[in-house]
Amino acid sequence: MSVTQQQVLDSLARIKSPRGVALTNANVLSPISASDGKVFFSINVDAAEARAWEPIRAEAEAAVRSLPGVTTVMVALTAERKAGSAPPPPPSRGTPGVQPVHAHKPPPQGGAQSPMARQSEIPGVAAVIAVASGKGGVGKSTTALNLALGLRDLGLKVGLLDADIYGPSVPRLTGLRDKPELDGERKMIPLRRFGLAIMSIGFLVEEETAMIWRGPMVMSAVTQMLRDVAWGQLDVLVVDMPPGTGDAQLTLAQNVPLKGAVIVSTPQDLSLIDARRGLAMFRKVNVPVLGIVENMSYFQCPHCGTKSDIFGHGGARHEAEKLGVPFLGEIPLHMAIRATSDAGNPVVDSEPDGPHAAIYRAIAGQVRDQLKGVIAAA
Ligand code: ADP
Repeated sequence: MSVTQQQVLDSLARIKSPRGVALTNANVLSPISASDGKVFFSINVDAAEARAWEPIRAEAEAAVRSLPGVTTVMVALTAERKAGSAPPPPPSRGTPGVQPVHAHKPPPQGGAQSPMARQSEIPGVAAVIAVASGKGGVGKSTTALNLALGLRDLGLKVGLLDADIYGPSVPRLTGLRDKPELDGERKMIPLRRFGLAIMSIGFLVEEETAMIWRGPMVMSAVTQMLRDVAWGQLDVLVVDMPPGTGDAQLTLAQNVPLKGAVIVSTPQDLSLIDARRGLAMFRKVNVPVLGIVENMSYFQCPHCGTKSDIFGHGGARHEAEKLGVPFLGEIPLHMAIRATSDAGNPVVDSEPDGPHAAIYRAIAGQVRDQLKGVIAAA
């Protein structure tokens, strides 16, 4: 039988908080989501107290995990900084768990607070790269997965982290629905398909739960998926970012130890403006932009193969030149890409000898070349 909210609360009531009272009386718990053995809640404290609370977070997670019927637990520590208070100290290198994040304040401009101070590497992972877009629906997740597969085809060991907390699509794109199991060190074991190590917030919580998360919760959930997952040895971990350039995205870009970012845009003007915002966001936090991909670049008729530039194709290439970032390639709007993607059989894997796989592999080749030094060093 799966665990109930009350059973979770009963186990948390036995934990003493740094405030001297039971955790359940400390006024820090979010509502508890418990369904199908999957439990999620957060502990919300002031950033100045975050360090003192990390052991409590871990204790709470362990207590809930030991309840019968629990298959997955995620306890996020969300640390909000009160207006006017000192910034939280950076966590020590390699500390698993959750890092203090800003709630409502915009993150620092121009990297002034040394964003690198908060980024510790993921052990065993040579390069973490982001796939981002200024807005939703441009094909970011489809590109992230096919790019990961392209990198795999180049002989690299690749992981995919779906950090698109507002609409995790990796379960749909990969057909994976299982819950990750825990290893001996109680780290989540990523699911495997297509030779990739794959993790998605969609494996852990119901989509509606993720939808209502605010910035700090997004950050702590992503941090846990980065650091409490047994990624093993990877050359590249591709992170499918949440779309947009708001505070949550900026905080993520700042807190995840990124070696670079790929920006996906459609040719329409509007989305190029959004893409420019994405570019500015990564520059602000000193993450190198590896380049821009133009998705749905031109329409390719599935019957006769004729190309039509329905969106004024070429905008992204022009924009990339103007902005001085590499242009990585053009992906057509094609039925085969949509159909394979939505059926959980990404085109690079299901049609490896086709023209689309070749395009994604060419993009992957350019990304690999830019990361060569990092991968070789590892
Ligand atoms: P995002 O992550 O930006 O929200 P998705 O990757 O989920 O976007 O793609 C949105 C929809 O567009 C999906 O149905 C996907 O199959 C489709 N799609 C993405 N790229 C292409 C393409 N190049 N050609 C045809 N359909 C595409």
